[in-house]
Amino acid sequence: MATTIEGASVAARFLEQPKRLLIDGEWVEARHGRTLEVFDPALGEVIDHVQDGDRDDVDLAVTAARKALEDSAWSRMTASERGRLMWKIGEIIYEHADELAAIESLDNGKPVGVARAADVPLAADLFQYMGGWATKIFGHTFQISVPYTPDAQYHAYTVKEPIGVVGQIIPWNFPLLMAAWKLGPALATGCTVVLKPAEQTPLSVLRLAELMQEAGLPDGVLNVITGFGETAGAAVAAHPGIDKVAFTGSTEVGKMIVKAAAGDLKRVTLELGGKSPNVVFADADLETAIPGAANAIFFNHGQCCCAGSRLYIQHKVYDDVLAGVAGKAESIKLGRGLDEGTEMGPLVSAEQLERVTGFIESGKVEGIRTVTGGRQVSPNGYFVAPTVLDGAGPGNKVYDEEIFGPVVTAIPFKEPEDVPAVANETIYGLAAGIWTNDISKAHRLIPQLKAGTVWVNTYNVFDAALPFGGYKQSGWGREMGEEVIHEYTETKSVCIAI
Ligand code: NDP
Repeated sequence: MATTIEGASVAARFLEQPKRLLIDGEWVEARHGRTLEVFDPALGEVIDHVQDGDRDDVDLAVTAARKALEDSAWSRMTASERGRLMWKIGEIIYEHADELAAIESLDNGKPVGVARAADVPLAADLFQYMGGWATKIFGHTFQISVPYTPDAQYHAYTVKEPIGVVGQIIPWNFPLLMAAWKLGPALATGCTVVLKPAEQTPLSVLRLAELMQEAGLPDGVLNVITGFGETAGAAVAAHPGIDKVAFTGSTEVGKMIVKAAAGDLKRVTLELGGKSPNVVFADADLETAIPGAANAIFFNHGQCCCAGSRLYIQHKVYDDVLAGVAGKAESIKLGRGLDEGTEMGPLVSAEQLERVTGFIESGKVEGIRTVTGGRQVSPNGYFVAPTVLDGAGPGNKVYDEEIFGPVVTAIPFKEPEDVPAVANETIYGLAAGIWTNDISKAHRLIPQLKAGTVWVNTYNVFDAALPFGGYKQSGWGREMGEEVIHEYTETKSVCIAI
């Protein structure tokens, strides 16, 4: 525990420092002088204030990012130097892992052990993995024929160029990791960034930006504007000086981003909501599938876009799996993220508490049975008991809509052939889970699921090398892996008569 306590005290010192916007390598106050409050969701108390950045600040940040893109130490840096810098950023994140985990825990509410084991190393690894791509971005050469110039000869090739200044808008469920997912490919491809963290969780991103400066990131490459979505976020989405917007958050706001970006047809990638099916067949190893199904929904308090929130269980094992998952839910220790032994923290905000308990109440009104949970746990902080519902179906809000809390809806099914239709009956298509010992059954089902990720006999496995993103209304484009490099580059075709 010594390292965790150390992390908490360093984090406390970080909280005492004034928080500013990062523009062109300088830490500055918002032009209009307002700040916004940052809450500890376990206590519902204000723990810090950050700048409430607005349109004017976004303007300055875009100017700085443009300058860094076109004429700076960054634009003159070789790919190899960029890769080394990104490796160093990863190293510095590892060195500050305890502190970053503690900041994340305080700000978001998640258990510090989870942040230390997952969020922080995944973020560090993402920078180092993407740093490897910096030297591996290349086009192709082509043998072209051009039938209307039969005697001519050409040298034709493509080059990949950075897409330009990128606006990145991220959510509060994995603040540090979502920043890494977005910044990694931007830096690998030589782009520059204006980043807006969520109003609820700006702290770890501000500390990350300091560490990136410490690693030697040139001025203006990363600009951080804390503030509200309707002001700072909307200014980023619509800004004519921004070439691409990368957004993670709700499908509702994703559609607003698309409309805002339509003004100048800037590039857009979106990682949005989900209502992911998790399917347990009767032949599955239930000793793995039951805790797996519980983890699929309760990890990060259900505040995961890919949470396995619709749990389909084959009827022969329905009662056993339902009871098993409910048992797991009841055994989860709720508490403050920094307290020893906490397995699940609070929801991130009073707004999310109201939203999630509102869904649970709607289920009760519609006659859905609460197997366990179904209530707020403590008057202080934003805690909701891990909840298992039974008997919901199409037309019920808890079945149709993304809840984004620790609430799973269990549904029985009879035959494997019944699964694709029910699993796909959603506007979303982010992820899906399959639990079976029959490898053929799994392989037959995988191509029928409209989902960007399918996990088999596991869930919530992420890696910097593995693309992540959604079908249908779960988004546009992919994060991570080689695929994301294409989302941050333009292809230029060159044709030279020789
Ligand atoms: P939002 O989609 O509102 O927030 C995500 C990000 O978008 C935040 O940085 C937010 O800023 C910003 N934003 C909000 N409005 C605008 C706008 N008009 N223009 C540009 N940026 C904007 O999600 P919420 O926090 O409101 O959560 C609501 C629901 O969204 C959740 O219950 C969940 O269902 C879903 N969600 C999905 C996530 C995912 O990973 N796919 C992550 C988070 C939420 P700010 O927070 O500062 O207002």
